[in-house]
Amino acid sequence: MPLAEAPMAVLATALRDPNVVIRYQAKIVTVPGSDCLWWQGAVSGRGHGRFYVATVVADLGGGDRDLCVIAHRFGYALIYGSAALNAVPVLGHGCDNPLCQRIGPGHVKPSSHAQNRRAYLARRSLAGNPLGDARGARGRSRELRDPSRPGGGGRRSVPAAAARATTAAVRRVSL
Ligand SMILES: [Zn+2]
Repeated sequence: MPLAEAPMAVLATALRDPNVVIRYQAKIVTVPGSDCLWWQGAVSGRGHGRFYVATVVADLGGGDRDLCVIAHRFGYALIYGSAALNAVPVLGHGCDNPLCQRIGPGHVKPSSHAQNRRAYLARRSLAGNPLGDARGARGRSRELRDPSRPGGGGRRSVPAAAARATTAAVRRVSL
């Protein structure tokens, strides 16, 4: 959903703030054997990364509120700008990894609700495909995320790539 004017202005400012950008980048790691850039921060109910951008200060009446965005949408805006992000209804994951922050072909790319739905239905029933995962989007993403977190690991049913990631193997990346 497109952002309204006030949060858009906050997002645009945040995108130019090196401290916010560093905070975003600090939550992304690489995992050996995977091309994806893995989100290590909070996970939304739908299994996507969640990133606190800044506080939107209320003009009159209403209270201030936190602007949290889907992490890969913030990553997209970092490259293409907040206006371009607002014009894209949906960003799809060609890699089927909802935590992935790599913007580009095969990973995070512009899509539409209809396209996303078609891709979901086509891939969900394939054997071993994560979209058919009984843990649900959030449970799956948390299990994917945790082994590559410092001090994490040891959970069942994680993909081989993520399971191989030890604390030592996890590297911070510069985007
Ligand atoms: Zn990916």
